[in-house]
Amino acid sequence: MKKLALHWQIVIGMVLGIVLALILNNFSWGSTFITNWVKPFGNIFINALKLIAVPLILGSLIKGVSDLKDISKLSKMGFKTIGFYIGTTILAVSIGLITVNLVKPGKSITEETRTELLDSYAGEASAKKADAEKQREAGPLQALEDVVPENIFSAASENSNMLQVIFFSVFFGVALIMIPENVAAPVKSFFDGFNEVILKMVDIIMLAAPIGVFALLASLVIEAPSADLFVALGMYAFCVLLGLFLIIVIQAILVWVFTKIKPSHFMKAMSPAHLLGFSTSSSAATLPVTMERVEEYLGVRREVSSFVLPIGATINMDGTSLYQAVAAVFIAQAFGLDLSFSTQLGIIVTATLASIGSAAVPGAGMVILVIVLAQAGIPEAGLALIFAVDRPLDMCRTVVNINGDASVATIIAKTENQLGTPTRSI
Ligand code: ASP
Repeated sequence: MKKLALHWQIVIGMVLGIVLALILNNFSWGSTFITNWVKPFGNIFINALKLIAVPLILGSLIKGVSDLKDISKLSKMGFKTIGFYIGTTILAVSIGLITVNLVKPGKSITEETRTELLDSYAGEASAKKADAEKQREAGPLQALEDVVPENIFSAASENSNMLQVIFFSVFFGVALIMIPENVAAPVKSFFDGFNEVILKMVDIIMLAAPIGVFALLASLVIEAPSADLFVALGMYAFCVLLGLFLIIVIQAILVWVFTKIKPSHFMKAMSPAHLLGFSTSSSAATLPVTMERVEEYLGVRREVSSFVLPIGATINMDGTSLYQAVAAVFIAQAFGLDLSFSTQLGIIVTATLASIGSAAVPGAGMVILVIVLAQAGIPEAGLALIFAVDRPLDMCRTVVNINGDASVATIIAKTENQLGTPTRSI
């Protein structure tokens, strides 16, 4: 019998997880059972993915950069990558603004629902505000300063320091190109082997993916707020989802135009990464799988993927930026504020920068949204309005974030002549 494709195994795991939670929800002991006996397997799975994120970036980026042999190639690719990332993010924010201005979801929210939401989620909203406050206190060049670690071991001990690890790896790789070839050779072959080991670890972890997502989805369903709130926020959620859908279509078309890879093929090749992004709500945790899919199933050479994808996971968030634009205008509408054209242009700038500053972990986009709201003069208490549906939307925007990174990596590979024949077929 032919083995079921990985994405189907994952889908089945997800569905079974949801079904189990819906059934157990009817028993008084159901939710404790899932929390105690099912959720830990989901956490173990996410931990295993996160466990290899730092070694993966270190190993593959050092190898990728040193394989380039030529520093000017690296800076050309660097500029192109950043250009594509910023361009697609601005496009995403603009689409978000257009959708939310056309649909006007905030106008349909009743006074009663607004008060109910503000009352129920005020506590959570102020916790997010406090998190954002810490980030806001930083000076204008703080983000740049933070890229250079003072100690590589402490940088590598924290997954949130991804940019610092990237900085060290690129620096190391560049220096490796500059030393005599015979001295560099053993170091390079060490990293070649190191890389293979890490990729094998990704393969092994992915064998557990169906069980991991089963556990993750079951615990998410059990913790979800009541369905009434979903309905109240339906128009808002619809706007975000519509925008996300448009972005994903545009990303696939861009890949098709630049590389001739058919959208259906691209989506199929990336689907396990999409499903994992959906289940974990973290582009950082999904990074090892995104890299594997892009290299093995789309043919992007490691020189490109190892450079473009980790940077993308940290700074390129098309889904998050779109969501921030929609959420900001929605909150303004719900409070009866009319945003001027120039305020909305300001949102394009702040949402673009804010999405760059959002960490690739669950819920990060919402913390940074506070800054977008403050900049546009929208009441920050409005965060409480969108809290109830944030997690499901986070799951969806993470898929778009991942897809954005993969599409830019594929396009850059093509323009750099680094798109080969895939080693595996779907
Ligand atoms: N969860 C998102 C990601 O990891 C970030 C966010 O929008 O909260 O890509």
